[in-house]
Amino acid sequence: MHTRLRTTRETVMTAEADPNAHTRMHSVSEETRSIVDLVLDYSRRRLLATDTPLDHASSPGELTRLAGRTISEEGIGASRALAAFEMVLAPACITTDHPQYLSFIPSAPSKAAMAFDLVVSASALYGGSWLEGSGAVHAENEVLTWLAGEFGLPAGAGGVFVQGGTIGNLSALVAARDTARRARTGAGLPARPEGGWAVVCSAEAHSSVKSAAEIMDVDVIAVPGGDTGSLSAAAVREALESDGERVFAVVATGGSTNFGIVDDIAGVAALKDDFDFWLHVDGAYGLTAMLSPLARHHFAGVERADSVIVDPHKWLFAPYDVCALIYRDPENGRLAHTQHAEYLDVLTEQAAYDPSDYSIQLTRRPRGLPLWFSLATYGAATYRDAVTHSIALARRIADEIERRPGFSLVRDPQLSVVVFERDGWSKADYERWSDQLLEDQQAFVVPSSHAGRTNARFAIVNPLTTFEQLTAILDSMK
Ligand SMILES: *Cc1c(COP(=O)(O)O)cnc(C)c1O
Repeated sequence: MHTRLRTTRETVMTAEADPNAHTRMHSVSEETRSIVDLVLDYSRRRLLATDTPLDHASSPGELTRLAGRTISEEGIGASRALAAFEMVLAPACITTDHPQYLSFIPSAPSKAAMAFDLVVSASALYGGSWLEGSGAVHAENEVLTWLAGEFGLPAGAGGVFVQGGTIGNLSALVAARDTARRARTGAGLPARPEGGWAVVCSAEAHSSVKSAAEIMDVDVIAVPGGDTGSLSAAAVREALESDGERVFAVVATGGSTNFGIVDDIAGVAALKDDFDFWLHVDGAYGLTAMLSPLARHHFAGVERADSVIVDPHKWLFAPYDVCALIYRDPENGRLAHTQHAEYLDVLTEQAAYDPSDYSIQLTRRPRGLPLWFSLATYGAATYRDAVTHSIALARRIADEIERRPGFSLVRDPQLSVVVFERDGWSKADYERWSDQLLEDQQAFVVPSSHAGRTNARFAIVNPLTTFEQLTAILDSMK
């Protein structure tokens, strides 16, 4: 056993004495077995626990005081390191899969998906190339093809699982601009239009679209969403009529993060008959709702998209962090993203499907596999039921809010986000109430705001969230 603390001098002497010291971390030994057992035992307990509290953030000073110094020349051993995690660090992380975590967009990974994430790590899988990871890539691609079918995209649509929606939006927009550039140079025009490239989106589009535009050094033409907050075809037409040549892409949001409102995707898609642009649908949170008969109709027009994204770590019950990026014609992604280097030629010269060719990431874990395993295990119908449950619950609690004196809905929910106000409350009232909810470990509901007014917001994706839990939160707003 190597858990006894040693001085550096002793370690050096041991290293001299033990010619196999350099293999300690990798060989299978008694120590390795006990480390693996410890970690699997913890994972098993956490995965099957039904009473993990919400927990809350701590300060750096408090964490240093409680966890002590964990990094040293000699190491503290697995049992002490795991104890520091279990007793100090984990309780300082909010339990994002708690049924009463209702802020931002929560995460609600299925048990099968969480458990299989361990398998992905245990197998050291590489998902960047067919040569190295064909089995994993095959399974990921089956999921992407299934999703593309759900979204109404044609056969042949495909892409790659990337880290998150921000990378997905950026990768899609880079492919869109590359396609527009190729069209221009093919027609004998300069690669860049006069005035520079621009992307059109709703003023309520996700911040990552603006961030992508910033990175790409292109302009954002933000079109006001109107009363409903949804991007209208008429507003996009106006932008295209005045700036059309500069616009390489229009981003429609399939479920805004703040309200879960879907843009007029069908109307925007119809503009493709009159204008030349790449339609990207950012459905990081909301596109999953297409699985439910309660919401599918909101998404008419997605079938005409050139690219879409959806985050399985939001509403497709996968653990962090994963985004499905799907191109209508993956060749546009490949042309934009394939990296060329002498050491990579062996890959790029083969005709095989290399996931790395479809986004800005090269090295990647096959992060779509937890979703694949869960979908394969439970079947798509189980997903439809779970998604439908959240949409129905959002509708039901919205009705309850409308009915209650002293409460008002900010907007009618379309998907599973419900935004409401407590009449007469100031920002400080919301903050005091929200802090108290977390202190009581009842719920995690942080205040949000719209048009300068503070509000409260339920984002519901966890199938274990109940109507009674939500009404108890409303009751606490006194
Ligand atoms: C969450 C979200 C994103 C960003 O996704 P990340 O996975 O957090 O990078 C982009 N667009 C929308 C609509 C989102 O809800």
